[in-house]
Amino acid sequence: MADILKFRKKKPGLKSKGKTLCANNHHKWKIDNARQFDVTSGKLITLYRCERCGVQKTRLL
Ligand SMILES: [Zn+2]
Repeated sequence: MADILKFRKKKPGLKSKGKTLCANNHHKWKIDNARQFDVTSGKLITLYRCERCGVQKTRLL
């Protein structure tokens, strides 16, 4: 259950040079954890997080 605490969203408003890129949907994706279990769908997923704006996306394996 401790892993759930990792789902923190960075507050926007940080001065970032890449903000324009993010606004244009060019995020700097980084794999947050290689594999995670999505409780909602009950499937293993890969979690990606943008290093600049903190947006997250998931991909089903
Ligand atoms: Zn971004």
